[in-house]
Amino acid sequence: MFPGLGRQDIKSVSFAGMTRELVDIEMAAHGGSVLEIRKVAGKWRVVADSKYARRITADTPIDLSGPVAGHARVRTKADPDGRQVLGTVNNCAGGVTPWGTWLTCEENFNNYFMGDVASHPEADKLKRYGVPGSAYAWAKFHERFDLSKEPNEPNRFGWVVEIDPFTPGSTPRKRTAMGRFKHEGAAGIFAADRRWVVYQGDDERFDYVYKFVTARPVDPERREANLNLLDEGVLHVAKFAADGTGIWMPLIHGEGPLTQANGFAAQADVLIDARRAADLLGATKMDRPEDVEANPKTGKVYVILTSNGRRKADQVDAANPRADNRFGHIVELTPDGGDHAATTFRWDILVRCGDPAIAAVGATFSSQTTKDGWFGMPDNLAVDGQGRIWISTDGNSIAKTGRNDGIWAIETEGAGRGTSKHFFRCPAGAEMCGPYFTPDDETLFLAVQHPGEADEEDASAVPATFEAPATRWPDFQPSMPPRPSVLAISRKGGGRIA
Ligand code: CA
Ligand code: CA
Ligand code: CA
Repeated sequence: MFPGLGRQDIKSVSFAGMTRELVDIEMAAHGGSVLEIRKVAGKWRVVADSKYARRITADTPIDLSGPVAGHARVRTKADPDGRQVLGTVNNCAGGVTPWGTWLTCEENFNNYFMGDVASHPEADKLKRYGVPGSAYAWAKFHERFDLSKEPNEPNRFGWVVEIDPFTPGSTPRKRTAMGRFKHEGAAGIFAADRRWVVYQGDDERFDYVYKFVTARPVDPERREANLNLLDEGVLHVAKFAADGTGIWMPLIHGEGPLTQANGFAAQADVLIDARRAADLLGATKMDRPEDVEANPKTGKVYVILTSNGRRKADQVDAANPRADNRFGHIVELTPDGGDHAATTFRWDILVRCGDPAIAAVGATFSSQTTKDGWFGMPDNLAVDGQGRIWISTDGNSIAKTGRNDGIWAIETEGAGRGTSKHFFRCPAGAEMCGPYFTPDDETLFLAVQHPGEADEEDASAVPATFEAPATRWPDFQPSMPPRPSVLAISRKGGGRIA
């Protein structure tokens, strides 16, 4: 990111080149942006003087709301009430709500913390989340990221953040009722009684698939009545049985093993330590759950499992059937009775990813899938207006799968089920994320994340630097570094895509 700096890490250089100024630039580059865009003469443009435009960074005040707000385990020197956090980090896939707010998810929040955990009062609990990850130098200049100085700060990250883009002065909120883990996404759909159901993945090897069901239905008449809907409801975690059925188990304090005897004194403890609660409930350990999203046309839910090279042969189960699962797979859930609030479901595997031409890989794309049509390492998904699902990937490379990351459309119904077709390929060194269709299917928005990185799978690749990136997309100017960017793809002459 910075010219002339070279690689900075804790192991080899102890972040020696990092200064307060550089750290503050990094913090300003985290979070998210509210932008207004408008189609002018057939082209999408950013509205430069929009009243909605704002940045939300790793330093923006964000309220904690729901059962964890004010709890002793989220109080700090700077916030003795435990009700307001500075910033949101590692924002991954998210979702939108029917009341017009945006959910952004805190994923690998562990990486921002440093310090000794041996003497930390919650050492085991931190370890379950990989804290401290020590991937950034922030703790050198902001003591709240130093565990020895501010032991509770990690409990204030790992949440879903709700932002109201239509009220520019509104304070974003961390919705603690939805649980604390490495959130990949938060895609919602209505239950039969109009409660809002948000599916969520915890992106870690051997972690879990969750859903949150609001306590009350969405009020279609009064937006105001929905603005705190995500503070009350029940978080559930999935358990898959070998016979193709499954259950959603509630994470409720006092029920089953979630008691004082096991270290849960209140619902706040269940939510802060959602992973440990799910461990005790015996949830199914998955191959890195990424996006989890329902198809509103069919009611089926797609769980993207990106890969898990650490699964051993004696750890396979029906829902995670491959040892050394290098290419990932997609599980399809069908809620019983067609109701997303149901606590039981049936499931099947839509596709095991990888090259179908190599028998040992065990891929299950349909025989109609061409040699360019298959993919590995699925990550995010979008559903178009016709109910076809589109998968963007993270982890393909010339060395690993002979292809860059990109987006593929895959059939889920009828004779074509499991047929995948390639649509768009990423620039070198990037992953593809954020697929989103306009309601008329005439524009597909895509995000190109971290273009220009070296191929991690290629031992001969020279590590990318500011001066020598793998590509200078999208400017292709020697003075410009590669820039992560959002694309808008439309059909020549207009009309529906694909
Ligand atoms: Ca992820
Ligand atoms: Ca990703
Ligand atoms: Ca990923």
